Amino acid sequence: MICIPVTAKTQERILAEMAEAAEAADVIELRLDFAARFDLKTLLEKRPRPVIVTNRPVREGGNYRGSEEDRLAVLRQAVELGAEYVDVELDSAGRVPPGGRTRRIVSTHDFKEVPADLRRVHAELVKSGADIAKFACMANHIADNLRVFEVLRDTKHATIALCMGEAGLISRILGRKYGNFLTFASLGKGKESAPGQISAADLRALYRYKRIGAATEVYGVIANPVAHSMSPAVLNAAFDAARRDAVYLPLKVEGDVVQFVNAFKALDIQGYSVTLPHKQGVLAAMDELDPLAERIGAVNTVANRGGKLFGTNTDVTGAMKALEEAIGGETPSPLKGKRVLLLGAGGAARALAYGLIDRGATLAIANRTYERAEKLATEVSATAHRLEDVAAVEADILLNTTSVGMHPNVDASPVPAAALRRGMVVFDAIYNPPATKLLREAEAAGCEAVSGIAWFVNQAALQFELWTGLPAPRDVMERVLRERLGA
Ligand code: NAP
Repeated sequence: MICIPVTAKTQERILAEMAEAAEAADVIELRLDFAARFDLKTLLEKRPRPVIVTNRPVREGGNYRGSEEDRLAVLRQAVELGAEYVDVELDSAGRVPPGGRTRRIVSTHDFKEVPADLRRVHAELVKSGADIAKFACMANHIADNLRVFEVLRDTKHATIALCMGEAGLISRILGRKYGNFLTFASLGKGKESAPGQISAADLRALYRYKRIGAATEVYGVIANPVAHSMSPAVLNAAFDAARRDAVYLPLKVEGDVVQFVNAFKALDIQGYSVTLPHKQGVLAAMDELDPLAERIGAVNTVANRGGKLFGTNTDVTGAMKALEEAIGGETPSPLKGKRVLLLGAGGAARALAYGLIDRGATLAIANRTYERAEKLATEVSATAHRLEDVAAVEADILLNTTSVGMHPNVDASPVPAAALRRGMVVFDAIYNPPATKLLREAEAAGCEAVSGIAWFVNQAALQFELWTGLPAPRDVMERVLRERLGA
């Protein structure tokens, strides 16, 4: 079930927000500790969905500052009036006795951490006579979610268990797979009642929460930061279009990625996308590596093959496919014999450099930090140049892998317009915005401009195909990416 908390201050606003919440919620939580004035009897008479009545004191992370007697009187009144649920804090459970058909949620909150003795905390909640045990605790690291899932998995008692904060986001989605009684979702941005709450709209449409069950396959993108990643939108849409029982999560991994991958084996994750800054570090966690990923020293895709992790790199094939399609297709590759000027010497440049050399292109590499250009050039037998000298380099194809021109610095280009010659193919790795200043200037100069969108969709589509064995719904994936980018 999805529960939307209503945190309005006045009776009129509470009624209005209840009506709004009713569209996406199975249950509405009346957070009366946020309200300055209310008439509970009328609120319950007009409730459009079953409700949880909550009046959370400051000591448990709520807003209620009045007397304890008055606070509990509201909860007792909710029981008398027949609210479906009432939320009573563990330390007050004895003072709001069960009554009628109201089910008591007995709750405890920890805004600092996931307690070391979580199982004992859960046992205490159950022992208190809770119809539904509830704990919410702050995750400081993504691995904290695992302990919450363990409790959920092992209990037969109705339980609401979740981690708060950005690191706890996955508990709000994946808890359902392990039997969470309900999850909380906000009405929208700014209306969260606890840190890290996802909007009900995202929970339903993006993560397809209602379809998650015990058999749902789990995938995700390992990154840090991860909030800006387009992969959850694109890959969840792909799974949806293919009617696959799967969910794809943003996984913010701080610190050691090998430790993360090993710890998350407990969840039997079926596949990962891997991006900055973990593409190199994750290699050490693989049981098997594709030779290209091994040679480049970077993995962007992990597939779980019966418990063994296989690491590969779809960045290379994805980018080469985008380029080859733009140039038009001789075999074995239209890139053979082409003079390519590659801007940048970071992770993306490395993947492209190997792909291009393997296809017989002649490569010149230019980078702001010349030494990095020199190092990569030596590795792949290319020439190295300074970024300020690129106008003098003769090339059929110019590839930008620097982050210059990326959102929000959309008025910057890595090269002067004079470096762009009619007939050149100009490929920008950047996909946000889809049309960078470099690409706009390239079109104006009579070049063929290729957006990083094609690369992004290709690498994600190849991941989807590797994981599922199904053809990727590329059109859907590109449409969702463009929608998310506002393009
Ligand atoms: P990275 O490893 O951090 O490399 C960044 C590169 O940008 C380095 O060469 C760096 O030069 C250069 N750079 C940064 N700021 C600069 C500036 N102000 N002036 C000149 N050069 C500058 O990052 P990455 O993984 O290679 O990614 C680079 C870009 O490619 C990003 O925009 C990323 O979104 C994009 N990308 C797109 C796709 C796709 O699917 N379309 C896939 C991968 C990457 P120094 O060496 O001097 O620092």
